[in-house]
Amino acid sequence: MALIDDIAARHGSPDAAARAPGRVNLIGDHVDYCGGLVMPFAIDRDCVCAIIEGETDRDAIVLSSLNEDKEHRVTLADAVQPGVGAARGSWQSYVLGAIAGIEELGALDALGGCRVAVATDVPLGAGLSSSASLEVSVALAAASRCGVSVGGLELAKLCQKAEHEFAGVPCGLMDQAISVLGRSGHVVMLDCSDESTRTVAVPADSELVVINSGVKHALADGEYGQRRAVCERAAAEIGVEHLAHADLESTASLDAEAEPLARHVVSETGRVRLAAERLAAGDLAGCGTLMYESHASLRDDFRVSCSEIDAIVETLRGVPSVFGARMTGGGFGGCVIALTTPGAFDTVAAAVEAHRTICPDLAVMRVRASAGAALL
Ligand code: ADP
Ligand code: MG
Repeated sequence: MALIDDIAARHGSPDAAARAPGRVNLIGDHVDYCGGLVMPFAIDRDCVCAIIEGETDRDAIVLSSLNEDKEHRVTLADAVQPGVGAARGSWQSYVLGAIAGIEELGALDALGGCRVAVATDVPLGAGLSSSASLEVSVALAAASRCGVSVGGLELAKLCQKAEHEFAGVPCGLMDQAISVLGRSGHVVMLDCSDESTRTVAVPADSELVVINSGVKHALADGEYGQRRAVCERAAAEIGVEHLAHADLESTASLDAEAEPLARHVVSETGRVRLAAERLAAGDLAGCGTLMYESHASLRDDFRVSCSEIDAIVETLRGVPSVFGARMTGGGFGGCVIALTTPGAFDTVAAAVEAHRTICPDLAVMRVRASAGAALL
């Protein structure tokens, strides 16, 4: 049954509803906050948000998620204040951040007395951006309910702000942008320095497979902030606004901490540019080579991979129907994305099965490049 039907069966028929997809980044990780190029695609898995009238207290809203058991009642006044209506980083904080963003655009009164219900089939915390899909679906549904029109990068930025201020996660714009801008059958190359986008068709004679390691190492958050700070320092020392715009030679003058990080940011941005050319030319093998190079750079220079993910990528390197594979997302666990020949899913799933001994929650899924968020 569709997620929207699950919500309706539990809470009654919606007065406004929207869906927003999770995403996979095909190539270009840890460059979005350095003004680099990224190449994500929206996946065929969504968070759905439905707004349902009928709660008696007109000054409050009720939040519920089919993925969580407890519902959460909050006054409209508290809802829009970071850290007040819900604890920072709780699932409710993402929802309230999105609602607060809509409040800045118009009146929230129309939400009073409503239930804001969500359900998702994006795995939570796996690096497929369930958080951005949650924010975007809630913002779109709330905007519709409140008679506010918002879309494109304006919507993405509103949701990024929700993640920064309400959830306390200092993320780049990529996840929210692709959840809004995704296009069926295409990746979207986003230049994070000027926010321009270009879509590139995924060649028909290919398939995309995600291997979710189910592994999540706790150091991810702290390491992210630390890497980000070093990248900012490196940009200042080289004298560029965006580290991704530095040339490779200038990164050699940096100290031992900053140099490999900067080398990754600059080289990764070059790989994304090349990957767009190769994809557009239908050069799947060439694109796959760049994915392996990207993985090595994230592993050796940026040092955000982990042994479980490295081992999966190495296994895939030995599978003839795999053009390329790499870690995707923030790192320290999460998912591997593989670009394969059509019909390779079973072969890939069988090949990585041996990793279940170290990754007990291993899951393999075929994903399709899909359309971005929409009202339902
Ligand atoms: P990712 O975005 O890679 O999935 P994050 O840690 O950024 O990982 O976000 C995961 C968090 O998003 C979850 O722990 C949960 O708080 C929240 N979340 C996303 N979707 C939902 C949902 N449908 N219901 C409840 N919480 C959700
Ligand atoms: Mg997230």
